[in-house]
Amino acid sequence: MSKTAQTLSGSCLCGAVKFTLASENSQVGACHCSMCRTWSGGVVFALDEIRDLKVTGEESMSVYKSSDWAERCFCKTCGTNLFWRSEQLGHTVVMAGAIENQSALKFVSEIFVDAKPAYYAFSNETKKYTEAEVLAQFAGAEKEE
Ligand SMILES: [Zn+2]
Ligand SMILES: [Zn+2]
Repeated sequence: MSKTAQTLSGSCLCGAVKFTLASENSQVGACHCSMCRTWSGGVVFALDEIRDLKVTGEESMSVYKSSDWAERCFCKTCGTNLFWRSEQLGHTVVMAGAIENQSALKFVSEIFVDAKPAYYAFSNETKKYTEAEVLAQFAGAEKEE
């Protein structure tokens, strides 16, 4: 509940699904895992540490359960990738590309760096985490819940 939180809004390409959220740091992480690459057609850039996510047009969204503990939400009509969420972890991240105010975002981290294919690399200075490091963090988070 910091006073530095800002409200961000976004929508899918066709506008059927819209959302608002509050973010303290506007921190974006990229995921290089093979599921994210296949799902997004590139790299998933996700805004993490959000709260007060409010979605309108949820009925226009499809939800694909991509693993035992997480699902991926996208617009049924235009296919825009919108959310990755895990009920189990109590964690939702928002696809950064769907956010309107792109200038608010800071690219700070990359995960599953050991799964990154060789054909691209970002020059941004980011914190980098391997798959094992990410899974250890999730395991820790689960215990905190
Ligand atoms: Zn749409
Ligand atoms: Zn991923």
